[in-house]
Amino acid sequence: MSRVKEDYYELLGVAKNASADEIKKAYRKLAMKYHPDRNPGNKEAEENFKKIGEAYEVLSDPDKRAAYDRYGHAAFQGGAGAGPRGGAGGGFHDPFDIFREVFGGGGGGIFEEFFGGGGGGGRAGGPQRGADLRYDLEITLEEAAAGVEKEISFRKPVVCEKCHGSGAEPGSKTSRCPSCGGSGQVTTSRGFFTFRQTCPTCEGAGTRIDKPCRNCGGQGRVNATTKIKVRIPPGVDTGSKLRSAGNGEAGVHGGPPGDLYIVIHVADHDVFERRGDDLFVEVPIKFTLAALGGTIEVPTLNGRATLKIPPGTQSGTTFRLRGKGMPNLRGGYNGDQLLRVHVEVPTSLTAEQRKKLEEFAVACGDADQPVSKSFFEKARRFFE
Ligand SMILES: [Zn+2]
Ligand SMILES: [Zn+2]
Repeated sequence: MSRVKEDYYELLGVAKNASADEIKKAYRKLAMKYHPDRNPGNKEAEENFKKIGEAYEVLSDPDKRAAYDRYGHAAFQGGAGAGPRGGAGGGFHDPFDIFREVFGGGGGGIFEEFFGGGGGGGRAGGPQRGADLRYDLEITLEEAAAGVEKEISFRKPVVCEKCHGSGAEPGSKTSRCPSCGGSGQVTTSRGFFTFRQTCPTCEGAGTRIDKPCRNCGGQGRVNATTKIKVRIPPGVDTGSKLRSAGNGEAGVHGGPPGDLYIVIHVADHDVFERRGDDLFVEVPIKFTLAALGGTIEVPTLNGRATLKIPPGTQSGTTFRLRGKGMPNLRGGYNGDQLLRVHVEVPTSLTAEQRKKLEEFAVACGDADQPVSKSFFEKARRFFE
């Protein structure tokens, strides 16, 4: 089936005079949209991904772009003919190679961040940075306040100890790849031009392993349980992210390891409710204490403290203990502890208590208290 090839500029949605930067941006956006990792099993997305990759390969190269502007698709017609190309091996280019190039040249940091992919099982060769990992760690409020050192353990790909990551069985010979001569890339001619692509024999590694390491199956990495100690600084909150450089997955083909991100979750506390750097607590007090005043003992994160209740304290009044809250993560100061009192009315009275309260009520007479007075005045005006 022959098909008219689409215009490369139209495919990327850019103008004919678009700058290299505009082309890169447009490609990057579309590549994220159509990337196979994001569209598993979607043939149309895969096809689009290949098409935009092909367009980008030409338009991102000044020489190829000039040829395309002059001759159109004819510039690249050679052995394979026009039309949609096949997969990486027999094609125009390896879309994944280009993708890596766009996303930070071989490092692949952003690539893995976006797609959560690992070392890409043999997709593209050469050294690849290991994937970043996320570890969700729950700590108590007390630990968040004081800071804590935790040992965490998890499974991840680590460098194979037996072959030290080379993938070759110790003692076996590793030779230069005969297909690419060790460069990891092979060149093919199409039309007027010569293109480079990842060597299909060694997948870009440039070496040929005679005997794959039996411990890792030639991958250079094995899954193992790792233990690391992490120091949690005082003041962290739920959602705080700590980066542990180099503690992510091991790299592939000698690439650097990824990073580990520890995401903090601070568990709810029975007594304190955290509000930013402040700690909030509701304290029940007796109605006699509210009326007469006095002192009570209240809990703080660092032990007991004394709170003075002035005579005539109303329910809902909030007191502030300065500096008794959480330490600020950036350091330098502490938040406050806020205590809201809740005046508790007795729910059952003995005969004697009841008698005393009735006497108290008589002693009070009709005299209004300030809050009631204001309320009943408003109510009276409402009924007038
Ligand atoms: Zn090994
Ligand atoms: Zn090769």
